[in-house]
Amino acid sequence: MGRFLVTGGAGYIGSHTCKMLAKSGHEVVVYDNLSRGHRDLVKWGHLVQGDIRDTVTLREAMRWFRPDAVIHFAAFAYVGESVTNPHMYYDNNVGGTLSILKAMTEAKAGNLIVSSTCATYGQPDRMPITEETAQNPINPYGQSKLMMEKICRDFDAAHGLRFMAFRYFNACGCDPDGETGERHDPEPHLIPRALMAANGEIDALDIFGSDYPTPDGTCVRDYIHVNDLASAHIAGALYLMDGGKSDAVNLGTGRGTSVKDILDAAARVTGKAVPHRMSPRREGDPAELVAAVGKARSVLNWQAGNSGIDQVLASAWNWHVKDRKAKSLS
Ligand code: UDP
Repeated sequence: MGRFLVTGGAGYIGSHTCKMLAKSGHEVVVYDNLSRGHRDLVKWGHLVQGDIRDTVTLREAMRWFRPDAVIHFAAFAYVGESVTNPHMYYDNNVGGTLSILKAMTEAKAGNLIVSSTCATYGQPDRMPITEETAQNPINPYGQSKLMMEKICRDFDAAHGLRFMAFRYFNACGCDPDGETGERHDPEPHLIPRALMAANGEIDALDIFGSDYPTPDGTCVRDYIHVNDLASAHIAGALYLMDGGKSDAVNLGTGRGTSVKDILDAAARVTGKAVPHRMSPRREGDPAELVAAVGKARSVLNWQAGNSGIDQVLASAWNWHVKDRKAKSLS
């Protein structure tokens, strides 16, 4: 069984991955500064509270824990915020990754799983997006993630520090047991906002653009359940621990789902109407992003098995109701 240091383990994808690691018998230490993560979601390992830019604390945590692999989730991930505050994104995402790589080389720790994104591709004109599609990000968030990938490659060349960069498509859904889930404040993402609209927490969901060149005019994305992402991270870590070479791999389902499809599923699963209104396009949104998934299958023998759209919505709704109830009681 392995030992995993998980940066950002108190966050959305991180906490789901920690749960899956622990349930599979692995040992987990979470490294998180709790700026956006939640202490109550650290349930499956010891917490070291620290910032990823604090190389010394990070290095000491690695010397003490001696991880077999580091899974690095700690990053900012809002496109709009990255446009208005690029410093935050380059400082935390790029500077933080540089610090992790330095700490790993100093602590002689190997095997890094790093979160990248389909936003590194920008607005490709051909679907599905393969890993060979040109990476031309159109915002500082995507740029920062592309820089992270490049820096990892340089560290591999110089120090033999092997890594796996996962380019996520749209992470969604929650732990079906309701033990962890998605909690952002403010919440910009489509699925939680659709559930907030169904629950009467906001007047209506804004559909950002209905004149896209897609079958129903709304944006198409590839929604992948967070537990599928978690299982891919474990597969990626085991691949590196087994001597696999550094690589970059898309994590998606290969299926496109429109904003309207999501609203229909939200109504089906909650049994409630989802009030919505047509709104202007959101700046920086490509019409369609769908992953080619063959490389994940061939390199990792992994594919998304829990990402049916009703399955996603049901798990998200279960968490949503439970988390709102806990909040109203606290
Ligand atoms: N979206 C929307 N209304 C919202 C939030 C999102 O219509 O209130 C659309 C958005 O334009 C995009 C899709 O839903 O096409 C997914 O957006 P989200 O913010 O969830 O993820 P992103 O694709 O930005 O990572």
